[in-house]
Amino acid sequence: MGASDAAETAEKLFSAGRVVIFTHERPDGDAVGSAFGLRALLRGNGVEADLVFPEPPPVRYREFTGEPDTPTGHYDAAVVLDCATEIRIGKGIYEPRQLADTLFNLDHHGANSIAGDVELIDVKAAATSLLVWEVAAAAGANIPVAAATLLMLGLMTDTGSFRFSNTDARALRAAAGLLDCGAELDRIVNAVYFSKPRNQQLFEAEVVTGCTRLLCGGRLALAGLDESIFKKYGFSMADGEGVIDLLREIDGAVIALLYYRKGEHWKCSLRSKDAAFPVGPLARSLGGGGHEMAAGITLDAPSAAALEAMLVDRIGSMLDSAKKE
Ligand code: 5GP
Ligand code: MN
Repeated sequence: MGASDAAETAEKLFSAGRVVIFTHERPDGDAVGSAFGLRALLRGNGVEADLVFPEPPPVRYREFTGEPDTPTGHYDAAVVLDCATEIRIGKGIYEPRQLADTLFNLDHHGANSIAGDVELIDVKAAATSLLVWEVAAAAGANIPVAAATLLMLGLMTDTGSFRFSNTDARALRAAAGLLDCGAELDRIVNAVYFSKPRNQQLFEAEVVTGCTRLLCGGRLALAGLDESIFKKYGFSMADGEGVIDLLREIDGAVIALLYYRKGEHWKCSLRSKDAAFPVGPLARSLGGGGHEMAAGITLDAPSAAALEAMLVDRIGSMLDSAKKE
């Protein structure tokens, strides 16, 4: 048991009779794509599969997902996807370990702390959806069009449609394989990029014009979002996966920082455009996590000003540190 490759994972997973699937809270495109994609894949290959989804899928992905399931009885295997820590599974409702004999842990985050019986953890994989595709391909599985489309959706969203630095030949090979299986690229593009609700567009316009500031000589693009802007536009960050790209896209910005209130805490999202200044270590040093170039932290701070001062100080020091040649 323990570390496994795609072929071993496939053999163990596809021989299970009943499988229950989990992913992380605040599910993004890769969480949606890998989880619903794996469900479609297993069902298409005679494996009974249920999906425990932590909250309603973001609106723009709904046409691809269908409904999650309520787990019933005991399962041979639980699969946790795209989830680095147990706390992000959506603890308190269902526990994978209590529902199943064997725990599969498929992820591409560094510092994954979930102890699976079968582990396919690959930080070089552009998306967890890519790992699911590789498991399916290794199994020689039947890949239904719905599964191929969902996995493509996950791969596309986690690579920023093949723009982010995690895009490599392997990711593009997977994309080609998924297209060969009938993945519906036009539907994904229309849903993900050309179906923005008008309230979101107006919200984003105000994020740009009213909330975004450039600090550290223009190398840090920052936006702190007050509760009032969410109320004004009836918008929630549950649908805000791409909002941080409004900061990242600014010329000269190396680091993008977006923060907003989440319950009693502050949720901070970080992105880097330069591998010499990764945000992963910074996030981890503050108790957060994620990838080297895309990370997040949940923090306590007495005020937005205090939070911002602390983060700007840390980011400023990092940007001032000697740049690697
Ligand atoms: P996002 O900024 O899109 O929410 O997340 C970017 C990456 O950082 C994701 O891979 C996610 O796993 C990670 N991340 C986001 N927020 C948190 C957090 O509060 N704690 C930890 N440990 N990781 C986070
Ligand atoms: Mn992912």
